[in-house]
Amino acid sequence: MSVIDSARAPVKLLQPYTPGKPVEELERELGISNAIKLASNENPLGCCDSARKAIDQASQNIELYPDANAYYLKQKLAAKLGIQSDQITVGNGSNDVLDLLARTFLEKGTEAIYSEFAFLVYALVVQACGAAARVAKAMPPDHAQPYGHDLTAMLALINEQTRMIFIANPNNPTGTWLSRTELKDFIDRVPSHIPIVVDEAYFEYVEESDYPDALQWLDDYPNLIVTRTFSKIYGLAGLRVGYAISSTAVCDLLNRVRQPFNASTVAQAAAIASLDGEDFVQASRVNNTRGLKQLGDYFSSKNLRYIPSVANFLTVHFGQRSDEIYQSLLRQGIIVRPVANYNMSEFLRITIGTEQQHQVLLEKLELLL
Ligand SMILES: *Cc1c(COP(=O)(O)O)cnc(C)c1O
Repeated sequence: MSVIDSARAPVKLLQPYTPGKPVEELERELGISNAIKLASNENPLGCCDSARKAIDQASQNIELYPDANAYYLKQKLAAKLGIQSDQITVGNGSNDVLDLLARTFLEKGTEAIYSEFAFLVYALVVQACGAAARVAKAMPPDHAQPYGHDLTAMLALINEQTRMIFIANPNNPTGTWLSRTELKDFIDRVPSHIPIVVDEAYFEYVEESDYPDALQWLDDYPNLIVTRTFSKIYGLAGLRVGYAISSTAVCDLLNRVRQPFNASTVAQAAAIASLDGEDFVQASRVNNTRGLKQLGDYFSSKNLRYIPSVANFLTVHFGQRSDEIYQSLLRQGIIVRPVANYNMSEFLRITIGTEQQHQVLLEKLELLL
């Protein structure tokens, strides 16, 4: 017997997450310095100036451990969101919070429900806990929310063993979303002992009037947990800060599992400062809405199908040519995201970039299509 055999069975079956290709890697491979990354839903405008200043300042004190309780960050978030600070669990990115949730509620013999084409991290954290995944069929391609969550199908999978339901609103990699009534009706039907995780990583980008803010329902549903992040519109993906908002009782459980220093000093300071950057957030949203429309119009003009998105990316159907197009863009210094690991090998996911980045992208695509 080898040391590998000693690992837990579900861990041995895990498939590692495939991230978007890092810019430095492509630049090294091609010997270039101006690669464009539209692969990981990062903010093409960077982050706000006050966050940059806070990062410089906080980096003067890194010999000290961070505030394990993220006091000031929670205070500021609580005031902004209209909740209590003891409802907030801070994570090393919201992926960390998803992992904490799984480790708090899931084990061998329990089940978690999520949708086909849902964010891959759900599958990873569920399996790592040895729990069983119950994957609901997604909406069909001709639905208004193609490949999106089918809440009726998800409800049908609930049984005695269910200990968690994951919903991404909007979902990555599809960009599809659930309306206020759809989501509220669903939450209403789920037995109150089952934690429902509503992942709102792209919340600040969404401009649909019928898009719900799940925080409004927290008081009525003690089993509801909302996750958000500073990685997307706030542009702090490299620093790793995300958080969950839940009942204080669930928050207490999560904080028992959480490592005390999971959010660094610099990350906390940047997150606090970025909450003052409302102009930056607004500018990011404007750039995104413009970019979504521009890419959507372009692909429509090429008769290419894409999944209607309210997030900061567009997932486009290139059919059999998707790998060829991915590779060809790569060779020309543009990184987009293959989604074959989602069983969507005929699609590429393209993060909304700046006007300038789109100009380069569309020039290259024009020659390819
Ligand atoms: C990007 C993303 C996250 C957030 O990741 P972080 O760990 O906060 O960087 C969470 N959920 C979804 C659906 C995402 O796309």
